[in-house]
Amino acid sequence: MIYDALTSRYTFPCPTHGDAHVRLSAFRELERLPGAAHPSLYRISFACSCGDDHVGLLTHDKLDWQPLGLGKGTFLNLMTDRFEPIGAELGDLAARRIEGGEWPWSFFCYPEDRPRPVFPSAFILLAPGTPAGSVGIAVRCPACARTSINLVSPEHVDLPFLNDGDIGGIDHVFAGDAATALEDFRSELYSADFDSRRLLLE
Ligand SMILES: [Zn+2]
Ligand SMILES: [Zn+2]
Repeated sequence: MIYDALTSRYTFPCPTHGDAHVRLSAFRELERLPGAAHPSLYRISFACSCGDDHVGLLTHDKLDWQPLGLGKGTFLNLMTDRFEPIGAELGDLAARRIEGGEWPWSFFCYPEDRPRPVFPSAFILLAPGTPAGSVGIAVRCPACARTSINLVSPEHVDLPFLNDGDIGGIDHVFAGDAATALEDFRSELYSADFDSRRLLLE
């Protein structure tokens, strides 16, 4: 798996085309695999331009860090909002922006009634939203571990540091386990019962 920071796409194998170049908003399901811890491994399904969905694997650092151009050996502790470098030089613009309070990705946590910063590994499910062109995302909050659904623009998902000013949300608290959330998510996503929340990080 390769991430190309210039085109903001991940490359996965496609049985039809050989390679599929996939934006984050074309991901459909993300599941952290049990067992592998160093690094942890994620099973990704994505909507391919060939018309089928495929499955690929991403390590945690590729999933979360490569879109930011960050080198290996650093890790951001979301509970303390601090980088904890593992011997690596942090000369990177993305690192400085995060340390300056800007967040590459964010979502609105409904159980907490507030926006929260996240990384792609917090996404559980993505689906085309209504209106057409929007993206529905189910996100597991790193702070409270509960799941919320937001309706956002593709750019909100695909481009680090580009956060929607307002997002659509569903005032619904989802069960913690992914299997239940999957069913809830699909039914709620098409209910078109979104309201608007201001997505400004404090
Ligand atoms: Zn394909
Ligand atoms: Zn939360």
